[in-house]
Parts: sequence; structure tokens; C-alpha cells
Amino acid sequence: MTKARSAIIIGGGHNGLICAAYLARKGLKVEVLEARNTLGGGLALTSSHMSLHASILKDLKIKLTSQAPVKTIALGPDGEHLCFSGNTVDGPEAARYAAFREEYLAYAKALGPLMLNTPPRLKDFDRADAMTFGKLGWALRFGLGEEAMREFLRVAGMNVYDVLEERFSAPLLKGALAYDAIIGCHVGPRTPNTVLNFLMRLFHDSGQQRVSAAATTSALEEAAGKAGVTMKCGAKVASILVQSDKAVGVTLDTGEALRADIIVSNADAKTTFLDLLGTRHLDALFAHRISKPRTDGDVARLRLSLKARPTVPGLPDSDLSQRLVIAPDMRTVERAFNASKYGEYSKEPVMDMMLDGRTLSINAAYAPLKLKEGWEAGAEGFKAAVLTVLERYAPGLSASVETAELMTPADMAEAFGNAGGHWHHGEMAIDQAFMMRPVHGTAQYETPVAGLYLCGAAAHPGGDITGLPGRNAAKRILRTA
Ligand SMILES: Cc1cc2nc3c(=O)[nH]c(=O)nc-3n(C[C@H](O)[C@H](O)[C@H](O)COP(=O)(O)OP(=O)(O)OC[C@H]3O[C@@H](n4cnc5c(N)ncnc54)[C@H](O)[C@@H]3O)c2cc1C
Repeated sequence: MTKARSAIIIGGGHNGLICAAYLARKGLKVEVLEARNTLGGGLALTSSHMSLHASILKDLKIKLTSQAPVKTIALGPDGEHLCFSGNTVDGPEAARYAAFREEYLAYAKALGPLMLNTPPRLKDFDRADAMTFGKLGWALRFGLGEEAMREFLRVAGMNVYDVLEERFSAPLLKGALAYDAIIGCHVGPRTPNTVLNFLMRLFHDSGQQRVSAAATTSALEEAAGKAGVTMKCGAKVASILVQSDKAVGVTLDTGEALRADIIVSNADAKTTFLDLLGTRHLDALFAHRISKPRTDGDVARLRLSLKARPTVPGLPDSDLSQRLVIAPDMRTVERAFNASKYGEYSKEPVMDMMLDGRTLSINAAYAPLKLKEGWEAGAEGFKAAVLTVLERYAPGLSASVETAELMTPADMAEAFGNAGGHWHHGEMAIDQAFMMRPVHGTAQYETPVAGLYLCGAAAHPGGDITGLPGRNAAKRILRTA
């Protein structure tokens, strides 16, 4: 049982709320301080999302009513579209796809012991670390079996381009699957280890169930409230207070100081250590290391308000509210990525979107944080590039646009106090994953400063709406604090 009696959580994103609820249920007095006027953080930007991990729903007694399952429809330039629904896809490669899904879902499941636990340390490991390694080894060797384990080890480090090329022929099918492996990150289908991104996404795959962001936020707020958590919005933390090398409280931007036995940060790692804590409390090596993770966002959000519902040839109106993906083939995705390597936005962006009434919310890639010409100069050009692509699939759409609101990674950084505006508080890549997320020295939710912990997407197992960083962090805190 923890000795700490009180905790402050910096940030009321979904991970902060989950961590808070777990701690409060074990008797801690917990206060969540959220800078924005609403709770939920980036959850508000997700039009449909994977559901929170089942263990969280069970532990916190949350009942989420999912709406009708959402399908992903890859739009074909010729009006021939491809519909993915759960484990099935239309067309001649249906059987191949079902076998691929089954195989890759098994690989994803084998990652379970890592995803659901504190990542083990590579040296000085304790009993819990040894148990996690043991369970992982067992899941790979006996859960998968020898042959599948060998194949898993072959593909896990590969790029998603090569793997999909080995398995499928239809360009549209490969384009849509590759898109799901790269979206949110600064990678292209040919970037090494993108199969790992794909597997981590599959681990959280709830079979395309759609849960509204608003319903999830309310349910989390209610669960935290019932557990006794106090939540304050419009409360921006300006600094973390340290006394005798221990975190003892925070100050707000109003100057008010608040104290607690432990401080848990839902903010990203660079903001937590470099802005809120300050390098004077860190040794030089760690301060250097924590400034290095790749945290520049590369996706923009475009919200179009339309005069009328668009028409997409070959797509019935009833399917317009499904998740629509424009990634016609893997080369187009890779070419779109090429531009962002040189600080340019994609002239032919790839995207996914959802229509709600007459509002079309689009995630468009790639849109690098550090655009060479600056976003003030580049915003209109990028909007035009997105509309040019959309016009090919939905003729007449551009003329129907009433307003077009663009949120670049720089805007996301500003809105969510998130260094770099990255969807997941940092790249989801092998060198920034598991026992290296966000960096060695703070990958087990603890930090070099006693009493200070991380609980957001910057921590293992990273981003997306899963709640696992918040849950795992709480479990770790309750074990040792
Ligand atoms: C446009 C967009 C679309 C996305 N789409 C999807 C999707 O479809 N599916 C999916 O699963 N994921 C999606 N994601 C990713 C997902 O939203 C993130 O991975 C997730 O929000 C991370 O949750 P979090 O709780 O760790 O952090 P956040 O959601 O970032 O929450 C952190 C909170 O901390 C607060 N905060 C920061 N600094 C301070 C401070 N100093 N004082 C007080 N509060 C502070 C912030 O205001 C914020 O509310 C998307 C992200 C974006 C940006």
C-alpha cells in the first residue's frame, strides 16, 4: 500500500483522469489541474476512437455505449471503393486479408505482457521486471508457437511497405493499411519498424467500435468524481516545486502554490522536465537526453463546414458518415511523406475523415510542425492541396465549403501545451518505445526526481485513446510511492 496520501495530477487528458481515478480508489486525496476549460485533452479531437482498454472499463466500472460499428472505406480514384469492417474486407483479397488479420492480431496479442505492465528495466531488474520478461517470452514462444514466433521476429522490425507488398496485390488495400500504420507519426510506409506501429494499433483495435469522445470524457469525469477526485479546469501549472530533491507541489500561472505528497504529470515529457521542472533539478546527462526525443507533429486537422452533404461517386449517402480514407496506394503515401522530410507540406496529402451532419473533420498528412515557409504563409496552400485531392473524389465539394478551419501541429502545441504538437506526445518508434519511452531513466513512470511521475502518452505504451499509460502509471505509483 502506498505511503503517499495526496497527489496532484498535472493535466486532465484521458490518461490523467484514469490515473487519478485509480489513485483515489486506493484512498489518495487527488486533485487534477487542467489548463484548458474542458477535460479530456486530445480526446476531443478524435472523431471516432478505439475504446479504452477493457481492464480500465472493468476496474473503474465504466459503461460506454458504443454506437453502430464504424467501417473504414478506402476511396478509390475510379469510384471503386474498398470497405473494411472488423476482420473483413470486400473484394478478391478478402480471404487473404482475413488470414493476415488473424495472424497479426495474434502477434499484437503477444505484446500484451509488455503493453499492460510497467516496461521492465534492462539492468538492475526486480521481481516484477523478471515476471514481465517471463510472461512476454511465454506469450511469444508458447502463445504464438515456434513457427509464428519466428515470423513475428522477422516482421516486427520491418517496414510496413515490404510486409504489405509480400501479402497483397490491390494498391488501394495496401494504401489504406499503410495509412493506418503511419498516421499521427513522422514516418512513411518505408520507414523501418512501421510494422511495430501497426501492431501496437492492432493491440488496441476494438473491432472498429465507435465511442463518442464526449461520452468517453463524461464517463471518465464521472468515474474520477465518484472515486473522490477533485477536478479543476482553467488551472494551468506553471512550475513543479522541489524541496530537498523531492517534488512537493506545483505553482499555477496565477502564482498560487499547491502541495501534495506526489506529483503526476499528464503533460508531455519535454514540457514536464524542461518547462515545469527546470533542468536545474536534473543531472546534465538526463537533461540532455530528455531534450532529444522526436516530438514534432506532422498531421493537421481541417474542419470544413459544408453548405450541403458531399456526393462521392460510387458511395451511397448512408456511407458518408463512415471513416473515409484517401490513400490510393503506398507510393502515394510515401511520396506525401517525402515532402515533410524537407520541411514542406505534402502537395498531394493523404487523409482520413468523418462527416457529421455537414461538418467534415479531416486528419491530413503530412503537415510538418516546422514548415519551411512558416504556417502563416503556408496554411492557405495546404488547405488548397487538401481540397484539390478531395475534389477528385467528391466533385463540387470545394464550392460547397462555407468555412475551413485548419489546426496545424503548431496550433495543437499551443492548444494542448504539448511540445511539438505531436498526436502522441512523441514518435511511436522502436527507439522511443517500451523501456525507452520517453527516454531511458524515466521509462518506468518514475522520474529522476523523487515524488514525480509521468502518466500520459509520453510514457509507455504511448498514444491513442487507450488509457494504458494512466492505468499502468497508477499501478506503478501504488506499488512504490
Ligand atoms: C487531431 C488528432 C486526432 C487524433 N485522432 C485519434 C484517433 O482517431 N484515435 C486515437 O486513438 N487517437 C487519436 N489521437 C491521439 C490521441 O488524441 C492522443 O494520443 C491522446 O489524446 C493522448 O492522451 P493523454 O491523456 O496522454 O494526453 P492529452 O490528451 O494531450 O492530455 C494532456 C492534458 O494535459 C493538459 N496540460 C498540459 N500542460 C498542462 C499544464 N502546464 N497545466 C495543466 N494542464 C496541462 C493539456 O491541456 C491536456 O488536456 C489524435 C490526436 C490528435 C491531435
